[in-house]
Amino acid sequence: MRREFLFLSILVPGPEHPKRSLDIFLQPLIYELQMLWDHGVEAFDVSCQQNFKMRAVLMWTISDFPAYGMLSGWTTHGRLSCPYCEENTDAFQLKHGRKSCWFDCHRRFLPSDHPYRRSTTLFTKNKKVFDGPPPLTDGSTIFHLLGEFGAESTSYCGGNGHVPVYGVGEVHNWHKKSIFWDLPYWKNHLLRHNLDVMHIEKNFFENIINTILNVQGKTKDNVKSRLDLPLYCSRDYVEVVPPYRLKVARKTEFFDWIREDVRFTDGYASNLRNCVDYGQGKFTGMKSHDCHVVMQRLLPFAFEHLLEKNVHKAIAGIGVFFRDLCSRTLTAEGIACLSENIPMIICNLEKLFPPSFFDVMEHLPIHLPQEAALGGPVQYRWMYPFERYMFHPKKKVKNLSKVEGSIVARVSTKKPHTLLNITFHRKFVRRVDDQLAMMIEERDRVIPRMPLNCLPKLVERVGKAITENYRSKNMHICICIFLQIVRILCNMKVFTWTLYGRTTRSTPRKT
Ligand SMILES: [Zn+2]
Repeated sequence: MRREFLFLSILVPGPEHPKRSLDIFLQPLIYELQMLWDHGVEAFDVSCQQNFKMRAVLMWTISDFPAYGMLSGWTTHGRLSCPYCEENTDAFQLKHGRKSCWFDCHRRFLPSDHPYRRSTTLFTKNKKVFDGPPPLTDGSTIFHLLGEFGAESTSYCGGNGHVPVYGVGEVHNWHKKSIFWDLPYWKNHLLRHNLDVMHIEKNFFENIINTILNVQGKTKDNVKSRLDLPLYCSRDYVEVVPPYRLKVARKTEFFDWIREDVRFTDGYASNLRNCVDYGQGKFTGMKSHDCHVVMQRLLPFAFEHLLEKNVHKAIAGIGVFFRDLCSRTLTAEGIACLSENIPMIICNLEKLFPPSFFDVMEHLPIHLPQEAALGGPVQYRWMYPFERYMFHPKKKVKNLSKVEGSIVARVSTKKPHTLLNITFHRKFVRRVDDQLAMMIEERDRVIPRMPLNCLPKLVERVGKAITENYRSKNMHICICIFLQIVRILCNMKVFTWTLYGRTTRSTPRKT
């Protein structure tokens, strides 16, 4: 895919995050997707030299976990934040930590005769687990339930017009009917929204490493956690140093190893020695990819001689799981093996780490093999390509006080040119370029004097240019000029434009 087409930009006015109103701005996209599904568009196949009817379908969405909530309509906070377990979750709220906790929610995924299920000491004290994994809800049932709960679509009630859906936070977490349900095929999809492996892996890694290194403010083993521990577990290290914490000498040994001995091939990872902060005893400035590399390539053996054997094995297990999950080729047997292993891996961590360690990011890996079985290798379903692409728009920023606006201005100039270069013959492009150069020259000459008064004159000239080209059947030039006019008018700050019949305002809002 060409880089120019990786992002489909939409204009979201205003300084504030759209949050639930995002669906309002997705309406043009959904309209086009519906058209592409129902009617299709005429396209030209260069290899066969013939026209064909092109239809398109939206397979799934890829986003981080907060955006998952905005796109799917399932709130990703609180006790019911897992979109797979839904109301069948065993998550609870910690008494002192006051956070939702997924501790001991994974024994139910183990085989029914597994000894862990009957243990009353290793996990929640005096609790045995006999339940099976939570059932999966298919698209048609969700669609039906949304109607039953009375979840409204934002495009009908408006961004601020939502009333709380019946039973939200208690029996379900649907806060709206996502606009994607307007697509006729959406309820037949088996995988609609992807859990982003990149962010899950990064958060999981940070939680582990900060707890092992006991980084103040970041560790999950804090005072509140120690107060909560006796309420849920029968463990004897309430007052002493827990087995998963590195002692000072071992920590120095670990950092020395990272600084002196760890070497990767060129371009494989950034220089990890720069991330070691001896003074504060932690890693600093690690990017998502650094976490990815350390998690998969170093964790499986890093703590072999530094921590106890059972702790090392539990930590290595999660590193190996992510390494296998992210492999380029996945087989049915491999995915079955991952599904079988992950409950055991998380249970091994539950045996060691305190309940406060298990937030939703430590729970979500349990559903990743199932998504891999439906959607294939994670390389096509995670955020890395999009995050990396952001490097290029960020290079375009000239005005640091208005970063987003600066990116939009540069991208909007480039897009018509790219489209023209791909769609039309060179001689047409040259003519269009000439027209655009004239237009820009006109704009630069006219604007400094008296922008609003000169507008009719500009419109008249542009109108003439469009009419002439229309008569000579150069429709593409007409379209291009129109795009350019919109850009010029936006630059002149004559008006800001919003989508779908919102009011057109004479003064631009701050961005
Ligand atoms: Zn779940």
